[in-house]
Amino acid sequence: MKIERVHLDFVELPLTDPFETSVGVSTVKQAWLLTVLADGVHGYAESVADPDPHWNEETHATVYFALKNHLLPRLWGREIEKPEDVAQVLGPIRANFMAKATIEMAVWDWFARAQEVPLWKLLGGDPAKTRIPVGVSIGIQPTTKDLLQAADQFIRLGYRRLKVKIKPGLDVERLTALRQHVGPSVKIMADANSAYRLEDIPNLQTLDDLDLMMLEQPLSHDDLIDHATLARAIKTPVCLDEAIRTPDDARKAIDIGACRIINIKVGRVGGHTMARVIHTMAEERGVPVWCGGMQETGIGRAHNLHMSTMTNFRLPGDTSASDRYFLEDLVDPPFTLNADGSLTVPDGPGIGVTPQPKRLAQYSSFHQELTDQSPVILVPHGMPASF
Ligand code: MG
Repeated sequence: MKIERVHLDFVELPLTDPFETSVGVSTVKQAWLLTVLADGVHGYAESVADPDPHWNEETHATVYFALKNHLLPRLWGREIEKPEDVAQVLGPIRANFMAKATIEMAVWDWFARAQEVPLWKLLGGDPAKTRIPVGVSIGIQPTTKDLLQAADQFIRLGYRRLKVKIKPGLDVERLTALRQHVGPSVKIMADANSAYRLEDIPNLQTLDDLDLMMLEQPLSHDDLIDHATLARAIKTPVCLDEAIRTPDDARKAIDIGACRIINIKVGRVGGHTMARVIHTMAEERGVPVWCGGMQETGIGRAHNLHMSTMTNFRLPGDTSASDRYFLEDLVDPPFTLNADGSLTVPDGPGIGVTPQPKRLAQYSSFHQELTDQSPVILVPHGMPASF
C-alpha cells in the first residue's frame, strides 16, 4: 500500500473524575486521532502524548511537528509491503516514540482491515485469548477514606487488580490501610511515576510486608542502574514503565536486574512492531509483561487489547472499561467490563472498532488533512532558516 492521505483530529473528551498522579492532575483527555487512508480502506490510531512534558518529553505539539515534518515525509509515495516496514523506515529518526506509534499503529490497523482479519491475528496473538483480564488504576485520592471507597467500588465492578498511584508521604500508611481493608486475596500494586530516590529505600522496604504484586517505576524516569540497586534491597518486584522505550532498554534492564516485570505501553515504545520485540525478548528471559494504559479512548484501548493477546502478557492490564474514565467514549459501543473482570477483544476486521462520526465531530476541536503536497514547515515564520 501507499499512504494517500492522513487525517489528524485533536479530540478532547471530558473525564468522569479528575485523575491525579505524582506528576499532575488531568480533567480532560486530549489526544491526536490519526486516520490513514489508502485504496478506500481506513486505519485508526491515537497518540498517547500529554499536553505537558511531565510524563515524558513528548507533547501534543511535538507529536504534530514530528508527524508532519519528519515521519510522514518519509512515508509519502513509499510502497509499504507489510506493517513492520513503517518501524524500519522511521528507524533513523531518533526517539519521538509516541509520534512514531501514532502512524505505525494506524498502518497496522489498515493492513488488518485490508485483509479483513482482526489485528490480533496479524500480530500473532494467541487465539485462545478472546478476553483480557483487566485491572484498574486509582489516582492519588484526597484521603485514605476516599482510596478505600474507590477500591470498594472497583472491586464491586469486578476489576481483577488495583493499581494505586503513590508519592512520598502518601504511600506506606495508605497502602497498609488498603491491604487491611480489602484482605489478602485482592491483587494490589503501586505506581510511583518516578517520585522516589535511593535515599527512600528504608521507606520502600516497609512495603515488603504488604504482598504487592509490584512497585512500578519508583525511581527516575530514565534510570536503570539505581533501579537495579533498589531491586536488590526490596522484596517487592520492581516493574519498569517510563524507563523502557526500546528493546535495548528492556534487554539491559532485565540483564542487570533492574526489573522483574515490564509494563509495555504500545504508544510509548513506537508501536506494535517494537512492542512485540520487547514482549518476546522478555518472554525468552522469563520476565512477564502487562499492557499499561494512558487513558486512551476506545481506539487506543482496542489496539492495547489486541496486543495483549500475545502469550507473554501474563498479568492484568490497565485497559479498563470506557466508563472508568469517560462520560462518553469515541467508539460505539463502548468497552464494558465482563462479569469476570475482563474486556472482550473485538473480533471485527482491524482493531474492530471505529470512531463514531457524530462523536468525533462533537469532540474534535481541530481537523486537518495531510497529503504529500502538505508543506513542511521546519522553521517558524520570521526565524532564519539556519536557526
Ligand atoms: Mg506507570
